[in-house]
Amino acid sequence: MIKVISSYSPLGYDAKVSVLIDHDNRCWREDVIVSSFLPHEAALIKAIPLSLDKSVDVLFWPRNSNGLYSVKSGYKLLLECELNDEPSSSDLSLSKKVWRGIWNLKIPNRAKNLLWRAGSETLPTRVNLRKRKILTEDSCPHCLLEKETSFHALWSCSCLYPVWQVHFSWLSKLAVNCSSFLDVIQLTQDHNNLSDVFAMTAALIWARRNQIRVGDKVLPIEKINSTALENLQEFQLASSTPHRAPPTFKTAKWSPPPPGWMKANFDGATFSSKALAGLGAIIRNDQGLVMAAYTHSIPLPTSVETVEVLAARSAICLAKDLNFSKVIFEGDSEIIIKAINKGDLLSSSFGHILNDINLLSKSFQRVSFCHTRRQGNRVAHGLARMACNFSDYQVWMEDVPPDLYNVYCSDLH
Ligand SMILES: [Zn+2]
Repeated sequence: MIKVISSYSPLGYDAKVSVLIDHDNRCWREDVIVSSFLPHEAALIKAIPLSLDKSVDVLFWPRNSNGLYSVKSGYKLLLECELNDEPSSSDLSLSKKVWRGIWNLKIPNRAKNLLWRAGSETLPTRVNLRKRKILTEDSCPHCLLEKETSFHALWSCSCLYPVWQVHFSWLSKLAVNCSSFLDVIQLTQDHNNLSDVFAMTAALIWARRNQIRVGDKVLPIEKINSTALENLQEFQLASSTPHRAPPTFKTAKWSPPPPGWMKANFDGATFSSKALAGLGAIIRNDQGLVMAAYTHSIPLPTSVETVEVLAARSAICLAKDLNFSKVIFEGDSEIIIKAINKGDLLSSSFGHILNDINLLSKSFQRVSFCHTRRQGNRVAHGLARMACNFSDYQVWMEDVPPDLYNVYCSDLH
């Protein structure tokens, strides 16, 4: 959410957004925006796509993709604001990040659960059991030197030194100032991709501690590291096999339109680090011959959907400018194709662009919008990715840029 902090004075207190728009050319008045707002605000405003036509102002709710308000999203927003107002908001978002990191690990749920309980200090350690008056003694049963917190039982007990030294000696150095197990988890997430091994090792240490407690057969301490790795590999292998779908032979390939028709493929790309987005389109005839190819770089809009819908609109403008009468427009964003065909999402943040598309579509004799998979849209994708090499837009008539020639040819065979 953005709160404008520039004062309104240069434009007057009752100024409306329309003073920022060049209504004849349907673009932002950059000079006015730059002189009235702070640079980051100006950049955000200029990235808002404008309608090509005079469309009616609508209110939309940015927290739902369809632009309509729901109590649930309103409640969520209030909750977030409340959390952000608390002085410890950074701590809260930090631990949220840690939890998300744990849940995203590809490890068995029991290992996630262990990390979560250890990090939130809810494991039945001796310290916790004493707090609940179940035990009277809270010192570590292994070293008898310190209190058995989850930090001690899983990480800092001197008995565990030989275990953690094998793969995590780097972590011991970083963790000298840590006082909770949550701090240690966070360090593994920040500094290494061994978080899954860390979790599996901690789970075995805890399981072993319980085996000793109840007198079960105990995993020798020197076997913890190798067992943790084996368990992890076994789990990752087992969980990847059923999900790895066999290569689908009906992978979408580009196909030419029916005789007499043109096909325009379009796609969008984002370059977040450059605050840019790219729009790309290619129009081919029923022989697969290229009529025109197009790339355009624009300021980065706020959503990926907006980029895709702008790519669709620019493909339509290109086809219209070239006077084609029967055109199939094909893109790989299912949401956008559905929205165009069903006429919904008109209340969303990009509803005005969908409106433009509806209006522009009327200028063709026949028009249709189809969804394809990415493999069927590769040239358009390449054109969109190429946008950041150009300062504005670039059109190739009856040709594709040399870098994409191979991709274009492979569509024909
Ligand atoms: Zn100990």
